[in-house]
Amino acid sequence: MSKRALVTGGSGGIGAAICQRLAEDGFEVIIHTHRNFTKAAALADAIRAVGGCAEVSVFDVTDREMTNLAVQALMDTGPIQVLVNNAGVHDDAAFPALDPRQWHDVVDVSLNGFFHVTQAVLMPMIRTRWGRIINITSVSALMGNRGQVNYAAAKGALHSATKSLALEVASRGITVNAVAPGVIETEMSAQTFDSARVARIVPMGRAGHPAEVAYLVGFLASERAAYISGQVISINGAMV
Ligand code: NDP
Repeated sequence: MSKRALVTGGSGGIGAAICQRLAEDGFEVIIHTHRNFTKAAALADAIRAVGGCAEVSVFDVTDREMTNLAVQALMDTGPIQVLVNNAGVHDDAAFPALDPRQWHDVVDVSLNGFFHVTQAVLMPMIRTRWGRIINITSVSALMGNRGQVNYAAAKGALHSATKSLALEVASRGITVNAVAPGVIETEMSAQTFDSARVARIVPMGRAGHPAEVAYLVGFLASERAAYISGQVISINGAMV
């Protein structure tokens, strides 16, 4: 029987590529979305059209109760053995001008979202004695980025959470890793980086493709990555 993988933010640029990769690798993919059901449903159709298996789940990762209900409903039909915590937002401002709302919104999605979703899937995952948790963070958490104190703090906290959770579940056949992308070609990065800036800050002179991030996630989700845990692996064209 194939394993099930939940990808939060599967409707987004990187999330969609991860869903496609995992489906090609034989996972039953749960494409999660918050506000973009149409996009997630179209992705599910595209995956099914080539023989893959996909369904859509809608919830707000910042809402603990809603997340629990939605994840429980998914798990009524079986455990989730791969969780990719990919949902994330940025809301940049120079620190003195950072509004408390911008701080809380960004921390809420990336960090509290990780807490809500991961806790909801963990016990059933432990019972199966096999699991993969992959947290999508950012190079901003490794090298800092002006205007992203909130975002870097949220993603950096995920790095620490990754290491601690990896220790807690190491004996249960579950690995926990973080993937920290650099500049990746998506709508999110298009708001922040023009091509001249990308050429200046990325030694390889180009943005990464979502599929390149997805290959790494696919490997970490595979049987072959069983001995890799508690790691932060950055994919960034040699930025750091
Ligand atoms: P997108 O903006 O394309 O996608 C973000 C995803 O997060 C969407 O699917 C969105 O769902 C979901 N999301 C946002 N808020 C919530 C919420 N409250 N509850 C549930 N889901 C939510 O971003 P990318 O694909 O570019 O980024 C994906 C991840 O990669 C993020 O964590 C980002 O921080 C990280 N990253 C991206 C980089 C880049 O260059 N693009 C670089 C480094 C890291 P919906 O649209 O359905 O509401």
